[in-house]
Amino acid sequence: MEKLVMDRISCHVTAKCNLRCKKCAVYVPKLYEIGNVPEYDMDETISSFQTYFDIVESVRLISLTGGETMLHPRLSELIEFLLGYERRFSKLEVFTNGAIDVPKPVLKALSKSEKASLFIDNYGPHLSSKLNDIEGMCKKYKARYTIRKYYGDDAHLGGWVDRGILPEKLDDETARRHFSTCAVSKKGGRLFTIFGRLLTFCATPYCGYRIGALPKADVLYVDLGDAGVALEEKRRKFMEMDNVDFNPGCAWCNGLGIYEDAERFAPGEQVYVRIGNLS
Ligand code: SF4
Repeated sequence: MEKLVMDRISCHVTAKCNLRCKKCAVYVPKLYEIGNVPEYDMDETISSFQTYFDIVESVRLISLTGGETMLHPRLSELIEFLLGYERRFSKLEVFTNGAIDVPKPVLKALSKSEKASLFIDNYGPHLSSKLNDIEGMCKKYKARYTIRKYYGDDAHLGGWVDRGILPEKLDDETARRHFSTCAVSKKGGRLFTIFGRLLTFCATPYCGYRIGALPKADVLYVDLGDAGVALEEKRRKFMEMDNVDFNPGCAWCNGLGIYEDAERFAPGEQVYVRIGNLS
C-alpha cells in the first residue's frame, strides 16, 4: 500500500477549557452550556495516530489543540508517542492559552526534540497570567516555545473572526464558493483533525455537529478506530476527503480567510466573569 504525504494534521485532545472565550472556534462555552464536554480517551487518540501513520508516510505539521491541552492528564504520553515518529514529521506544536501551568512531564517530553514546541497564545496579562512562569519553566527544561500576541491593537491578524455555525444553510452556490476560497480547504494543504477515533476534514462541521447545530451527514470523516474496516478502506476514504471538490459542512460556515473585511473580535473575551477554577 503506497503511503500518503500530507501537509498537516491537528488533534483535539480535549474540549475542557479553563477559559470561556466568546468567539471560541470550537464552541467550548456552548459545550459547557449543554453539559457535554468531551475529553478524548488517550488510548483511542494514540491508536488513531498509529493508524494515521500506517496510512501516511510523512506530514509537515502536527498540532495538538483543544480546549486547553494542558487539562488532559495524559498529554505528555501523546507527545512521547508522537516523538517515536519524529522522522515522519517536520514540526510538532502543542497549543496552550497561557492561563494554566504547563505540567513538568509535558515540558520534559517537549524538550526531547528540536521539532517539538509549545505554542502559547497570549491573551494579555489578565487572562494569560501564567505566561512568565511558563516561559521560565520552558527555559529551565529547555523546551522550545513560541508566543503569539492575541490582545491589544496589534493582536495577531487584527483579532478573531466569527467562526460560529450559521443559523441557516447557505445556498449551494455560496457554499461551494466558500469551499473553494477557504484557507482550510486549499488543495495540498487541507486541514484534517483527529477527535478521538475520528479523522475529520475541517474541524468546523464536526464541532458544529458536537453542539447539535448541524447534522452528522454534513461532516466528512473516517472512523480510524473501526476495527471492522480494513486499513485500505480507511486510506481510500481519507484520500477521498483529500480530493473532494465540496465539503457539505461549508453550507453552515463563513469560512476562513474568505472575506478580507470580516469583522474582527477581541480574542479571549470571556462569556462571563470567571469565578474560581472552572477547569
Ligand atoms: S466548513 Fe468552513 S472552515 Fe471548513 S472548509 Fe468549509 S468554509 Fe472552510
